[in-house]
Amino acid sequence: MGCMKIFIKLLLLIVSLQSFSVFADSEQTKILVVGAGISGLGAAKELHDSGYEVTVLEARNIIGGRIYTDRSLGFPLERGANWIHGNKLESNRLMLMKEELGLKTNITSLSVADNFKLFDKNGKIINLSEDDLEKIEFRIGLTAYIASYIYPTATLEDVIGFLKKIRLISFAPNVVFQAILQNLELSAAEDSKNIPIGTLVAEAEYMENAGNDEEVFGGFDQFTNHLSKNLDIKLNTPVTKIDYSSKNVKVFSSDNIYIADAVVVTVPLGVLQKNLIEFVPDLPEKKKEAIKNINWGNVNKVIFKFPYNFWGDAKTFFIERDDRHAFSTWLSNEVMVNEPVIYSFFSGDFSRNMEKKSDDYIIEEAMKSLKIAYGNDIPEPESYLITRWGLEPYILGSYSAPGHNQDDLKLRTELANQIENKIFFAGEATSVNEYGFSHAALYTGLREAKKIKEIYPIKPQ
Ligand SMILES: Cc1cc2nc3c(=O)[nH]c(=O)nc-3n(C[C@H](O)[C@H](O)[C@H](O)COP(=O)(O)OP(=O)(O)OC[C@H]3O[C@@H](n4cnc5c(N)ncnc54)[C@H](O)[C@@H]3O)c2cc1C
Repeated sequence: MGCMKIFIKLLLLIVSLQSFSVFADSEQTKILVVGAGISGLGAAKELHDSGYEVTVLEARNIIGGRIYTDRSLGFPLERGANWIHGNKLESNRLMLMKEELGLKTNITSLSVADNFKLFDKNGKIINLSEDDLEKIEFRIGLTAYIASYIYPTATLEDVIGFLKKIRLISFAPNVVFQAILQNLELSAAEDSKNIPIGTLVAEAEYMENAGNDEEVFGGFDQFTNHLSKNLDIKLNTPVTKIDYSSKNVKVFSSDNIYIADAVVVTVPLGVLQKNLIEFVPDLPEKKKEAIKNINWGNVNKVIFKFPYNFWGDAKTFFIERDDRHAFSTWLSNEVMVNEPVIYSFFSGDFSRNMEKKSDDYIIEEAMKSLKIAYGNDIPEPESYLITRWGLEPYILGSYSAPGHNQDDLKLRTELANQIENKIFFAGEATSVNEYGFSHAALYTGLREAKKIKEIYPIKPQ
């Protein structure tokens, strides 16, 4: 037994010595990328294609991170990112990649009037004219804009409450405001009471010019699969410690030590907040403050495949509930997968709470919503997927959210700053203006690759 132990120790030593010399016999700059999400893969591909020696260390047994196309039901369903947000070629790198790869997409109009149905608490369909919708949007938008200057910490709920009180939008039924608030809460991954109006107005201005959204036939993971080609990626390799106290950086995983000139850390904000990676020396105070104070959101989905379609041609529908977060927003996936599939999104505290519940409980609660709109005779789902992003090891949430903190932009700039030109930070939360989105995550990876190329110019062969 004792001999066996010594033998195993020796074996581990040999393995770790080998990994010590992963890059040792080469003159080229060595870069490690921690995390094989779209930001890490983007950085790694850019550096690899420019001639650097790059290894990607990924904790899980798959690449893609929060881009995760699940094919277990027999067709591609998105557990994570679903839309290319903002389909302008000139401002969205994913759109360029989509063209390059010849991917087919379904353009989703942002107009609420486009096959959108609203049901009140009693299952009655609420019809709103385009005119009424425009009036509501305009009045809320204008008041929110003014409030963002005079009372920037107000929330959208405050604004709607105020407009109702002075009877400027009293003609609209309650479900309309619930739907507006839910829509915002889903894209922010946070409850609207936690989202200051100033942040919202800035986002709305950005989104207004961003264009429509597009869903990708065949799976969003075609982007990450494409980026990963020809890269050296080590799966099942969780990084536990990064030591940058000497000239080279040492990166520790459970059974290996890797050495490089520089490291790009792309792990989700939730992973940094939980201190799952030890930094030696400790991270500077400003960086730690940024990690702690940026808001980390939570969004989940429940996806149902039914034996047949009972919701007709509605692409999106909203069902009023006493708790507006409770499986009120539903989207049809039929166009994408040619199967009777719909899914509900939920966010914030409701989502954090729901992911701790059993599948049976979640299904029953979700079905309660659908029964309000479509009656008790609807069929039970044939199969389902339920995400629990907050409990997913090495992810621990969905995407960073706008926070109450007025210094959010400063915090994100700080999060993106490199340390001693050795530790670089990418990932959606490090995007100052477009955090949360996949295209922004990709951009942050390319941003850090560009910095590395400037700081460590490639040596002529
Ligand atoms: C439910 C949901 C819906 C979404 N919808 C959209 C959408 O429609 N459109 C859109 O644009 N975006 C959407 N997003 C956001 C989008 O998915 C993310 O912004 C983007 O994928 C983040 O990429 P990233 O590279 O920053 O991080 P990630 O994809 O999280 O990659 C980080 C990687 O680091 C790995 N890692 C963590 N810890 C370690 C460690 N210690 N060692 C090694 N590796 C580690 C993780 O396993 C992960 O693979 C959605 C996200 C969710 C969760």
